[in-house]
Amino acid sequence: MALMITDECINCDVCEPECPNQAIYLGPEIYQIDPAKCTECVGHFDEPQCVQVCPVSCIPVDPQHVESRESLWQKYQRLAAQAREEAAVGAPPASSGTGG
Ligand code: SF4
Ligand code: SF4
Repeated sequence: MALMITDECINCDVCEPECPNQAIYLGPEIYQIDPAKCTECVGHFDEPQCVQVCPVSCIPVDPQHVESRESLWQKYQRLAAQAREEAAVGAPPASSGTGG
């Protein structure tokens, strides 16, 4: 399951840096979780890190995004592969342009 942040969020900023998947971002009013990136911390930690740190306990499971542990694991594998690819293409060979 992905998690979600409710409107009880007080924008304290502590959860965002804790997310191993960069799934948490500041929305128009409060922090939000990208369900495509949230693995409930599967692959990284035993417990959802954002839930651990949230001082107002406003991060429940998102009923719109119910997933099995297996599918969370697959999501983690996909994200990890994607991150590796991005790291590879993110570092282009040294070049000062095509010239003219
Ligand atoms: S449960 Fe884990 S992966 Fe999901 S938003 Fe919270 S910290 Fe990020
Ligand atoms: S830790 Fe909780 S209150 Fe703080 S920004 Fe995250 S969701 Fe909002």
